[in-house]
Amino acid sequence: TGRSRLISGLIRSVPDFPEPGVDFKDITPLLGNPNGFSAAIDELVATAPRDIDVVVGIEARGFVFAAPVALSLGIGFVPVRKPGKLPGEVFSQSFDLEYGAETLTVHRDAVPRGARVMIVDDILATGGTIAATAGLLKHLDVTLAQVSVLMELPALGGRATLAKAGIDSFDAVI
Ligand code: 5GP
Repeated sequence: TGRSRLISGLIRSVPDFPEPGVDFKDITPLLGNPNGFSAAIDELVATAPRDIDVVVGIEARGFVFAAPVALSLGIGFVPVRKPGKLPGEVFSQSFDLEYGAETLTVHRDAVPRGARVMIVDDILATGGTIAATAGLLKHLDVTLAQVSVLMELPALGGRATLAKAGIDSFDAVI
């Protein structure tokens, strides 16, 4: 579609960032273009099932997309953050990344039990980040109803990782 082309055209590939061999997708040109950014949010909103209670976003680039999606849907936003950032009691989950290792945390009282949750992130690469976030949500005793990302990098096998993590409702805008 025209919208997908608008969005794709505003994502820049940067070779060998943050280390040799990684082809980094830079979303900052998209964020700087109000038509493109708005189209990206609309496309993400369009993937939301009707009965979602909360949107979960992942630090840091995920926040930029997840928070506007939550506002647009008229529901709350819950941040998943790196260690040491959230002031309350947290659950933690560690995992390996395309480049390095990471731990993610979420407030234990962030989401009511039984809520239906949608995860929104910028890029699906290996899927490690979203699989770890899904693991965090298990501690919270909520239902992960939908995972949506702006962009999928199919060569990195993220979809298979998500399937292994039991995620069966996944959409990528581009
Ligand atoms: P994964 O855990 O799926 O390997 O990596 C996804 C996470 O790493 C996302 O939260 C995303 O922010 C970041 N990431 C991985 N590769 C890229 C990339 O090429 N561009 C951008 N912008 N983020 C990336």
